[in-house]
Amino acid sequence: MNLSAAEQALIRAAREARTHAYAPYSGYAVGAAVLADDGRVFAGCNVENASYGLSVCAERVAVFGAAAAGAQRLVAAAVCTPDGGTPCGACRQVLLEFAAAPDQFTVWVVSPAHVIARYTLTELLPHGFQLARGE
Ligand SMILES: [Zn+2]
Repeated sequence: MNLSAAEQALIRAAREARTHAYAPYSGYAVGAAVLADDGRVFAGCNVENASYGLSVCAERVAVFGAAAAGAQRLVAAAVCTPDGGTPCGACRQVLLEFAAAPDQFTVWVVSPAHVIARYTLTELLPHGFQLARGE
């Protein structure tokens, strides 16, 4: 698979973020990164809590960091797990919220050493929830 420099940087950021995962309960370290339409990359890792329900996935940490920095049109994401796990349903919905074009939004699924798969967000979340706005 030939990857562009931007895609390689996105995947590298997800792998790097995974090294910061705080996952003492599940032991399942995840890193994620999102690419904004202005070229900026925002990364996140999963952050667990002793009160398990408070844990947040790597993908949402990355997306919320992007949103907080004013990057609210995202064009791609990379997720790095030990075994090629794909984003959970909640994270797919959060990615949809900020995806500039869901059918062209690439989600790279990678492990530390390999590119496992690539999907579009529409493939991962067909018929995602979208609130009708302004009417
Ligand atoms: Zn998730």
